[in-house]
Parts: sequence; structure tokens; C-alpha cells
Amino acid sequence: MDIQQKTALISDTLENMFGTPKWSGAEDVLACLIETILSQNTTDVSRDKGYARLKEQFPTWEDVMQADVKAVEESIKIVGLGNQKATTIKNFLSWLKAEYGELSLEFVHDLKTEDALELLCQHKGIGIKTASVTLSFACGREVFPVDTHILRISKRLALIPQNCSADKAHAELPKIIPKGKSYPFHMNLIYFGRRICNARKPLCEQCPFTQHCLYFEENSEP
Ligand code: SF4
Repeated sequence: MDIQQKTALISDTLENMFGTPKWSGAEDVLACLIETILSQNTTDVSRDKGYARLKEQFPTWEDVMQADVKAVEESIKIVGLGNQKATTIKNFLSWLKAEYGELSLEFVHDLKTEDALELLCQHKGIGIKTASVTLSFACGREVFPVDTHILRISKRLALIPQNCSADKAHAELPKIIPKGKSYPFHMNLIYFGRRICNARKPLCEQCPFTQHCLYFEENSEP
């Protein structure tokens, strides 16, 4: 079985376990990008609270762009790294206004995926994961965001080398994922990582992938 066949088997098996998550349709691209910046290194619950507070304090993106960075930082402090994230968001909004004349990213729908990734990733504080999440969730593009669960599981199942960085994984994993499966495979790997293949004590006795797993091979009794 080659690596593409193995990835397809894992993708199919996860769909049998958890179903086939469907993309929920286009979202406002700029809002999705800013939510994703807020989500870096924090939980979904904190991200949602931080985003709600930001919108409460600054109802429009123009308001955020005009606000003092300290005021934006204060409004999003629940998400952590407030100064860094406030600076990233404000710098991006100022760039967008200066470059395109309005605070909207809807034109991204008309760009090729690689051009859209490049456009977003040129900004400090917006890496390949944040750009990929935005293009996947807001635009339904065939990109594959790699979070901490996906990186860990991909190494355990030897889909990528053990020393592969998250940035490199963003380039490598799309080469082996079955066409059209990026979104459901991404979502299902996260479910699997949260429910079964967690970081510290994976529930290997419930896992259908033991025969493919380096972690299992190294940690099971002889
Ligand atoms: S065998 Fe264990 S470590 Fe390996 S993929 Fe399954 S749950 Fe994760």
C-alpha cells in the first residue's frame, strides 16, 4: 500500500467513524481571517468571546483600524497575545484600506488559491495555517490547514517524517490527500485527535489504525 492509498484508507475509515463533515458555505472572508488570527494559541471558546467583545467595542472594521492599539488589545485580552494580535489585525486593515480602498476581502474569491495564500501570508502574524483556515472555511478552497492534532497524528501514522515542521506539513500533506477530501479529512482528524488520538494518553485500544502507527509500535508491549 503506498502513502496515497494509506491516506485514502484513513480518510475513509474516519468518515465511517465520524461521518462526512460538509463545508457550511461561504463566510465573510475578512471576518473569518480576523477570527482565525484571534484563535491562534487559544481555545475556540476564548476566540469566540474575544471576537464578540471586539465587535461589541468596535462595531465596524473601520473602527478597529482607527482605534488605538492598546484599546484593541484590551478588548481581546481573553485570547492571549493581545498586543501581537491587535497589531497584526490593525496593520492588516490599514494595508487593506490603502491597497484596495475598502475593508473587504471578498475579492479573494476571484483569486487562484496559491495567489490568495501568498497575499495573506505576506503579512506579519498571518502564517500558512491562518491563511489556510481562512481559505478553507470562508471560501471552501481545497487547502489543508495543519493544527497541532493533525501534525501529531500525521507523524504517528507516518504520513509525514517525524521531524516535519508544521509549515512543511502544509506543503506535504495536500500531495497525498484524496481529491475533494481536504475539508472532511481536516475536520475528522481533529475529531479523532480530540476523542481518541490525544497527545498524552491516546486510546489506542479504540483505534482502527494500530497497524499503521509508529507510536503504537514503539509503545505497545512486546
Ligand atoms: S494507535 Fe494510538 S497513537 Fe496510533 S493513531 Fe491510533 S490512537 Fe493514535
